[in-house]
Amino acid sequence: MARADDIQPISPIGMTLEAFVAACADEGVGAGRAKDAYQAVYRDGIEHAAPAQITPPTIVKRHEEPVNEGVTIKFVQRLPNPEHRLKHRGIDFDDIESVIIPMIGRSGRKTHTLCVSSQVGCAMGCDFCETAQMGLIRSLSAAEIVGQWWAACHLEGIEIDNIVFMGMGEPLDNLDEVLSAIECLTDRSGASIPMANITISTVGRVDGLERIKEQVQKPGWKRLGLALSLNASNDESRSQLMPINNKWNMKDLQRILQELRVVRGGRKIMIEYVLIPGVNDSLTNADELADWMSPFLKDPTRKKAKGHGGLLNVIPYNPRRDSPWPAPTEEQVDRFVDRLVSHGVFVNRRRTKGRDTMAACGQLGTAEIRKRQIVPLTSSSQRD
Ligand code: SAH
Repeated sequence: MARADDIQPISPIGMTLEAFVAACADEGVGAGRAKDAYQAVYRDGIEHAAPAQITPPTIVKRHEEPVNEGVTIKFVQRLPNPEHRLKHRGIDFDDIESVIIPMIGRSGRKTHTLCVSSQVGCAMGCDFCETAQMGLIRSLSAAEIVGQWWAACHLEGIEIDNIVFMGMGEPLDNLDEVLSAIECLTDRSGASIPMANITISTVGRVDGLERIKEQVQKPGWKRLGLALSLNASNDESRSQLMPINNKWNMKDLQRILQELRVVRGGRKIMIEYVLIPGVNDSLTNADELADWMSPFLKDPTRKKAKGHGGLLNVIPYNPRRDSPWPAPTEEQVDRFVDRLVSHGVFVNRRRTKGRDTMAACGQLGTAEIRKRQIVPLTSSSQRD
């Protein structure tokens, strides 16, 4: 058996314990030693515990903003990218953003949610979203996704209770790596985040949701949280805001959501709705939205319908840079929410956290990143 110190170090970040033990076995290191090293990295935040060694994340920017529940922390990590398309200009790295959001749970306990990025930039092109303005630079590996958790826990020193894939990127555009990252994050020997505390949020790529439908039928995956960014109440408006709607429309989404609910034992899928004044906030929009949600207001797997059943998250629009629209006023949000409630829709009104730091929903994608890497989407030089 090789001495752990003699072998080539292996980074366990992004690996399950099982995968790490197998990699160590290839080097002649026993399972017990490998497990200790894995736990030292994940639980104790140790960077070098032979045979495990990690490259510690480089945080190049961080910003704190006090909120009622505590402090929202946005941190920007610099990842090496030797293949960068602007390498000829001396750029061989990507910057990605993550946000730690404090919350007070129903029991009054304070928890922390980590909002992770799954891509550098995004290809989906949603009109209201800051990240979309960057275009897609590249997708992140499972290790780079898990690295955001490691940085939050062991560099920022915050215990993370929940993880949401609501940072930069479209997770279903990078599903293999996202699923591997989740497998790793839920590993009981490592990060040990319960599956029910992880949520994937999507623009509504139905092909990806079909794959999720298969995935959640595998042991341990049923409780994975899902969120759909609907953001509009009819196809015309949704296609204008979100180009993906030209491929899969609101009827397609209704169908796959129903199927998902059945295979997930009636679990709810959160519907997100970014409320943009003058765009999707009229009372007619509220009526249409309630109508679209009506199939979800009953639970198909239970004989007795349980109360409201649907879960809608109304997110007041956070103006992106150069936004043509303002944020909604409290009254505008109230009016919209009240109308939905009158239709029996259970509405969760999300308070905006981190708007000032551009760390709020859809505001990830720093101006510096954009200036450096972004050229107009239509330009042929985009992929040079
Ligand atoms: N691509 C995924 C995850 C990233 S966006 C998705 O679309 O779900 C995470 C959430 O932020 C989505 O619900 C999105 O609709 C919302 N969002 C995007 N831009 C926003 C903005 N400017 N203001 C408020 N919410 C925004």
